[in-house]
Amino acid sequence: MDDCKTCDSAGVPGIGALPWDIDATTAALIDRVSTGRMRELRGDVPLEDMIPLLESDLKYTIVSFMDCLDCERVLFWGLCVRGNPILRRADRTEVDRWQWSEVPARERWARS
Ligand SMILES: [Zn+2]
Repeated sequence: MDDCKTCDSAGVPGIGALPWDIDATTAALIDRVSTGRMRELRGDVPLEDMIPLLESDLKYTIVSFMDCLDCERVLFWGLCVRGNPILRRADRTEVDRWQWSEVPARERWARS
């Protein structure tokens, strides 16, 4: 995106029309959190749970806001059942302004 090695390398391009590889980008973000380069600010579910929830088709959009501890900016990762994944910068105030909607009960979609 711009000038941050931690953020810029998180997005793994997808194949064809898909802007981002959902599995690889999610894994890259999880890696950055586990190594202390990013912090999960707020999400519908933890990063590890985004794909199982997406695959359940029970929730239309699943988003996560991350704090990059390298550049101190906020990153948005959004998955959508019938749309392309979105990885972009976000304004910090967007976390509170986001229209958070209810997440279906975990036992309906979680892998474990
Ligand atoms: Zn960054």
